[in-house]
Amino acid sequence: MNRSVLFQRFVLFGRLNLSRAHYLWPHKLQTVNTMHSAVKILQVSFGILYLGMPEFIPKTFKSIINKMKFIDPWFWNKYTLNPYNGCQFGCIYCDARSARYYMPEDFDNKIIIKQNVATMLDKRVSGARTFLPDVVALGGVTDPYQPAEKRFENTRSCLKILAKHRYPVHIITKSTLVLRDLELLEKIGRNAWCSVSITLPTTNEKAARFLDNHAPAPARRLDVIRQIKQRCKHIQTGVLLIPLVPFITDSNSDLTDIARKTQSVGADYLLFGGGMTMRDQQALWFLQHLKQCLPDLLEKYEQLYSFKYTPEKYAGRYQPTSGYLLPKHRKLFELCRESKLPFRIKRFIPEDDRKLNYQVSERLFEEVFVAQMLGGNWYNLSWVAQNIQNLTEPLEAIIQRNELGKICNVRGAILEKIKILAVELAAKQRPG
Ligand code: SF4
Repeated sequence: MNRSVLFQRFVLFGRLNLSRAHYLWPHKLQTVNTMHSAVKILQVSFGILYLGMPEFIPKTFKSIINKMKFIDPWFWNKYTLNPYNGCQFGCIYCDARSARYYMPEDFDNKIIIKQNVATMLDKRVSGARTFLPDVVALGGVTDPYQPAEKRFENTRSCLKILAKHRYPVHIITKSTLVLRDLELLEKIGRNAWCSVSITLPTTNEKAARFLDNHAPAPARRLDVIRQIKQRCKHIQTGVLLIPLVPFITDSNSDLTDIARKTQSVGADYLLFGGGMTMRDQQALWFLQHLKQCLPDLLEKYEQLYSFKYTPEKYAGRYQPTSGYLLPKHRKLFELCRESKLPFRIKRFIPEDDRKLNYQVSERLFEEVFVAQMLGGNWYNLSWVAQNIQNLTEPLEAIIQRNELGKICNVRGAILEKIKILAVELAAKQRPG
């Protein structure tokens, strides 16, 4: 076993035990925090390494922004941008730990700081003919306002470039640091579109200490929304209740509390959907913590995700069964209705030839979302919405030529639905 493996085990052991202490004995938190501060003081005084201290690794990449073939119909982004790899918040369920994201092995402690992000982004956005202003999501994989941002300001540098080119922006974060950039985000909102989504799987402080102990506490995250609503007219903001963590954040009283608090801070939406995903090393990481801190739940997870626990390999389901999810989604729709909270984010609508295409696809995607959440038929309609979204000419022109049926997957009742929607939405745009 080499030194780095030994060190990782040491760090993991420390983290597991801190999480366990926080979760099982919350009344002792004060003591734990005091000890933590004492260790930090020792670190500063003697230059020794303290558990969880991140290593920042500068790295140059070929590209900083990624253009997607199909938009994300929940977050509305066409582009993704992650100023950092790795995430200091280190939430134990984080999907970015899975192999498909190629993150550093020590995800919470080795943070890759992408170099020259502003210059690269400026060059890419101004130089490419195929780039049209559309929503850029920051935070789809790692948090753009994790503590490293305070020092390196990669996110802020990218926002300045996006503001210059009038690109709409969607920030997804758990951090209060986003408040630092409100002026810039408000400018983006005024000139294009801006949404700030605060990820909040639970309002229960004890559960949060287990799940995302290094991120700001739930009440502080909710306060970010309150402050944005008080200070910014052009920023849309709300809660992402994603993911639902089975048996930990999903009771009726948990969900009711989150809806009530989301409404009380004046949020524009409460977006939910799906249970915690589990795959490869991310699942193992989560289960390791579960076994340490909440061993009584392990068997329930084995049943829900159909696996038998071993620390070496995860071979269970990716998502909980629909038998588990549907009642949760029904409850959340009911709570949104009662609290008058939209469950969708209002999308960016460009004022050019794409306008009607985007409006029609927004409505279709909403129908898809509801069907998806409630176990209806949505697959074909989802492709129709994506195909309309990706048209290279205005929908009006296609309807006028009577060629709607030439769009892939558009036929029968769906074709008629699109005609009706297009007429209705076009009428709303006409003055008077
Ligand atoms: S804040 Fe988001 S990206 Fe960072 S670890 Fe938590 S879930 Fe993952």
